[in-house]
Amino acid sequence: MKETPIQFVEYSEAIQPRSVKGRFRNLKSYVLVLGYAVFFLLPWLRWERAIGSDQAIIFDLASLRFYIFDFIVHPQDIYWLSILLFLAAVFLFFITTLAGRVFCGYFCFQTLWTDAYRWIEHTIQGDRIKRIRLNKQSWNTEKIIKKSLTHFFWIFLSFLTGLSFVLYWGDAFELTARFFTGTAPAAAYITTLILTASTYLAAGFARDAICRHVCPYSRFQSAMFDENTLIVSYDYIRGEAKEGRAKPIKALKTQEARKEEGVGDCVDCGLCVQVCPMGIDIRDGLQIDCIHCALCIDACNNIMDARGWERGLIKYTSENNLHGKKNQYINVRSVGYGIASLISIGLLYISITSSALLNVSVSQTRQPLFVSLSDGKVQNSYNFSFINKTRKPAKLEVSLEGLEGAEISLGRIENIVVKADKSLRLFVKVIRHPNESNVQRNMPFRFKVTPVEGDLKKSVLIDSQFITH
Ligand code: SF4
Ligand code: SF4
Repeated sequence: MKETPIQFVEYSEAIQPRSVKGRFRNLKSYVLVLGYAVFFLLPWLRWERAIGSDQAIIFDLASLRFYIFDFIVHPQDIYWLSILLFLAAVFLFFITTLAGRVFCGYFCFQTLWTDAYRWIEHTIQGDRIKRIRLNKQSWNTEKIIKKSLTHFFWIFLSFLTGLSFVLYWGDAFELTARFFTGTAPAAAYITTLILTASTYLAAGFARDAICRHVCPYSRFQSAMFDENTLIVSYDYIRGEAKEGRAKPIKALKTQEARKEEGVGDCVDCGLCVQVCPMGIDIRDGLQIDCIHCALCIDACNNIMDARGWERGLIKYTSENNLHGKKNQYINVRSVGYGIASLISIGLLYISITSSALLNVSVSQTRQPLFVSLSDGKVQNSYNFSFINKTRKPAKLEVSLEGLEGAEISLGRIENIVVKADKSLRLFVKVIRHPNESNVQRNMPFRFKVTPVEGDLKKSVLIDSQFITH
């Protein structure tokens, strides 16, 4: 796999890909529209809930809850995120092993935003040749207007991107109103500003340089490729034959004539290079910079169609297929990454479905460890923390198991009621008269927390100890 030396890209020398029509271009456009619809519209979608925000997806920092439709993530569940990240990584490896860098070519934010920026550029300034000419010409009214309009819409899209991201962290309607009346939190303005600037720079200027020099994935993806991986490839044998590629001059217009002369089917039109957003020539073989967007396939297929020749001079294929061998999709790598993905999905599913709806934690007061009362009894104190993850208030009872003759005091509190989707802290005293049968210094016992009203069903047992002297 070839590696491109580091280059510092100047805007005037930036790659100016030609637009192309074809099924892969269509597929990329569908993904882009869908991705943008989801990202920009989701914060505005409302969702009926008995408690909490009515926004379908909101990372509510004030209440420390992440609402994702009917799914609520509490701070105690944050380890799900690590499982999710691991799943995302191994699933990406799995896909890469099977189909190369399809994530880069179709789904990566950098690709989606660069595509949208290029669409704006193309709409205002025209296709490749017109843009190159505009860049080269001296500044005049036409150039000033076209460039200004392009940058205006780029900045507008960057701002929308930054603001939309911020809207996931608060009520979208309220936050937008506050944002434009200058009363939103400072963090909202700073985050929007940083994202506006970084999107503008990454999608408007850095573009392919991000994929080449910043993204770590492009560096290690080659380790996941093997001869079975589907990659965008040029059929060298068909394209070059014995005598190499050749322009379709008069004597080389038909495939038969070319065969006789020993030249391949590549007519050296250069379209596959002109449409490439990475500015590479796929005919030079697999290259580390190729993001497998398949636009060169569309370009070449159009040429083949125009000549009435078979498509597929550039195509998704594997090294095995190119050399006439059978592909083995089921191999050690794909099976390994597949199993790791399934295990992560299983772990995530089990940890979500078995997640307790009532969290109780107890810590014993250490200062002092115990108090001797005037009537000879000994008192230990405990700090309780309850979290009720259900949508109804929960009435709870606390009792003792394995601590004979002891009693519980909740002070002035008569009933323990934890509001729906809320937490409660409580100070609990346990009082006991030490006698000959229980002079042991540390008496292990268990608190039993029993739901008596609400949606909770299961009791919770917590190990603790009673210290006598
Ligand atoms: S070589 Fe083809 S698949 Fe690779 S980045 Fe360029 S256009 Fe996309
Ligand atoms: S588009 Fe096809 S025919 Fe044209 S140069 Fe590329 S490989 Fe050759």
